[in-house]
Amino acid sequence: MPEPVKVLTKRYEVEDAHTLDGYVRTGGYAALRSALGSSPEQLRQLVKDSGLRGRGGAGFPTGVKWGFVPQDTGKPIYLVINADEGEPGTFKDRELMERDPHQLLEGIVIASYALNCTRAFIFLRGEYLWPGIRIEQALAEAYREGYIGRDVLGSGVDVDITLHYAAGAYICGEETALLEALEGRRGQPRLRPPFPAVAGLYASPTVVNNVESIANVPHIVEHGAEWYRSMGTEKSPGPKLFCVSGEVVRPGNYEWPLGTPARQIVEESCGGMLEGRALKFWAPGGSSTPLLTAEHYDVPMDFDSIAAEGSLLGTGAMMMFSERTSVVDAVLNWTKFYEHESCGKCTPCREGVFWMAQILERILEGHGRIEDLQTLDDACDNIFGRSFCALGDGATSPIKSSLKYFRNEYEQLIERGRLPQEYAAHAGVVTDNSGMHRPSQLVRR
Ligand code: SF4
Repeated sequence: MPEPVKVLTKRYEVEDAHTLDGYVRTGGYAALRSALGSSPEQLRQLVKDSGLRGRGGAGFPTGVKWGFVPQDTGKPIYLVINADEGEPGTFKDRELMERDPHQLLEGIVIASYALNCTRAFIFLRGEYLWPGIRIEQALAEAYREGYIGRDVLGSGVDVDITLHYAAGAYICGEETALLEALEGRRGQPRLRPPFPAVAGLYASPTVVNNVESIANVPHIVEHGAEWYRSMGTEKSPGPKLFCVSGEVVRPGNYEWPLGTPARQIVEESCGGMLEGRALKFWAPGGSSTPLLTAEHYDVPMDFDSIAAEGSLLGTGAMMMFSERTSVVDAVLNWTKFYEHESCGKCTPCREGVFWMAQILERILEGHGRIEDLQTLDDACDNIFGRSFCALGDGATSPIKSSLKYFRNEYEQLIERGRLPQEYAAHAGVVTDNSGMHRPSQLVRR
């Protein structure tokens, strides 16, 4: 059986780990010194050999992504850290930045050197004020001591890092919308090709990497690719932060090797389901990943095993719900979120998600019709794969998967015109178009 690991979280118990003193005292920046003794090509190969896959949701191999960047265009190369973390249920990067900001900065400097990039950006979710303060303090310390800036540690390598506070839009987690926003325009996705690796920020070759992905890099440099591959599975190596929320005893971030069964993470780290309730449904990687059920509780949490069950590992944000939660109410909650966050650029998402929210709301208000279920199904099919970016696809995931596993619950709700009594005490909240939270329909009933 897998054991919990402490790689990215190894300094979480160190009180002053967020300071340069605390970080260096516990071995920090040793990997940077070592990396500067290797060539950029060697570092790119090392990360490729480690098998590190992006932790922002897509799971694309980081070393392969780095390899797409042309080195001979004469244009500057940029590294952009996606710290937008807008996926509902996801809070791993926030804690990484709050508790161990130098780990991220060390990873950025190493990655920048590996990419021959002299200017990196951290695109930080606007609401993340405290992580922002910690990053600002860490940047000031690292600049002062020569870990960042001109001639890093006397190596002749230059790396500058700019912290950018985003305005707060889910769509800016999509890498091309992020780049638009970083350039000062409205955050809407760009048409691809060209891909960011070729023409990204300011039309220059750009790598966009997630916070957790880059936080892995110093450890790979320090311990090697073979050590990294000793954790996890062959195709999903390494440690992973799982952020568990919902009806569990101890929600939070927990670090386990990829491939650890979901049940083991919830039972050993979170103390199991709240009050011993039975698991009913769960999202394995945030709200845009198709729901799974109690039948999937033992599935290994890695990219391929979750995909084999028809869902996605996403960000590793496990949202757990018991028999006492109405799946229709939870799905409405998420759909209202996507309706609110749709950037409006393409019709299937802008119109389709709006109408799906209307239908779900009508069902929960007791005015549903049985043919609404077919309409929802059709709407999902006309949004999925036909939207301009992945937000449209993601918005269909909770609806499509809940119809697959819990169609009876929808039918009963339509037939009765109200939710069964046992759900009433556990109603959630929904977000309306104004961004305000209000009690969901069943609370008002
Ligand atoms: Fe915007 Fe939605 Fe279209 Fe993406 S899918 S471009 S978020 S309207």
